[in-house]
Amino acid sequence: MGFPVIDSHCHIAGPEYADDLKAVVGRARDAGLVHAMVILAADDEPELRRAADVVAQWPEVRFAIGVHPHAAGKYSAGVDGAVRDVDAAIAAQPLTRGLGEIGLDYHYDLSPRDVQQQVFARQIELARARRLPIVIHTREAESDTFAILAETAAADVGGVFHCFTGDLAMAHRALDAGFHLSLAGIVTFPRAVELHEVARLVPLDRLLIETDSPFLSPVPYRGKRNEPARVVQVAEAVARLRGEATEVVATAAGDNFRRLFNP
Ligand SMILES: [Zn+2]
Ligand SMILES: [Zn+2]
Repeated sequence: MGFPVIDSHCHIAGPEYADDLKAVVGRARDAGLVHAMVILAADDEPELRRAADVVAQWPEVRFAIGVHPHAAGKYSAGVDGAVRDVDAAIAAQPLTRGLGEIGLDYHYDLSPRDVQQQVFARQIELARARRLPIVIHTREAESDTFAILAETAAADVGGVFHCFTGDLAMAHRALDAGFHLSLAGIVTFPRAVELHEVARLVPLDRLLIETDSPFLSPVPYRGKRNEPARVVQVAEAVARLRGEATEVVATAAGDNFRRLFNP
C-alpha cells in the first residue's frame, strides 16, 4: 500500500499471537499500517500483561480496555468489581485511548442479560469520568443497547459501533445518535448484502475499518486466524462498494480514528 491504513479494532495481545507476534506486526507494517487499536479484556490478567510485548514490537499501538459482555457474568455478585477492574487496568496502561469493548451480546448469552446491562451502563459512566470514547459490541440486542446509550447520555462520550453488522435502520439510528460505524471483514462476504448497503450509506467522516483479529478473516482468508494486515482487504471492499479509491476510504478512516481516539 502506498498510503497509511489503521486497524481500529484487534485483539493481538491474545494468546493466538504468542508465538509469532513479531511476524504479524511485520506484515502489518509492510501492508501500510500506522496504528492499531488493540482491545484488552480488563478481567484477563495474562492479556493485560502481554500488552507490554505488543508495545515492544509496535510502539504505535493504542489500547481500549473494558469488560466484554461475554465476561460480564464474572461480576454477577457485584458489578462494582467490573468498574474497579477496568479503572485499575486503564490506570496501569498509559496508552489507553478508549473504553471497550463493552455492550450487550444476546446471541451467545454467555452472561445474564441484566448483568450485561449493568456492566455496560456502569462502564459508560466510567468512560465519561475518564474522558474516553467507548467501543461498543452489540449483537441481537439493538433496542436494549440504544436504551442504555440514551439513559447514560453516551452520545456525548462518543464512540464506535465496532464490527457493525446491523441493518440499514440500525445504521441510521447509530449515526443519528452521533456514533461512528466500524466495518470488519464480513463486508467482504458476497452474501452480506445488507451490510454492503450500510457500507455505501456511512458518511465518510463516520467510517472506521477494522479486522477484529483473530476473528472474521476477510475473503480470501475466511476461516483462518485473522491479523491486522488484512484491514487492507476491508478497505478495498468498502471502497469497491462505494465506488471510491481505496486510498480515499483508508485516509478518511484514519482521519476519523485520530479525531475519535486522539492516539
Ligand atoms: Zn466485539
Ligand atoms: Zn473485538
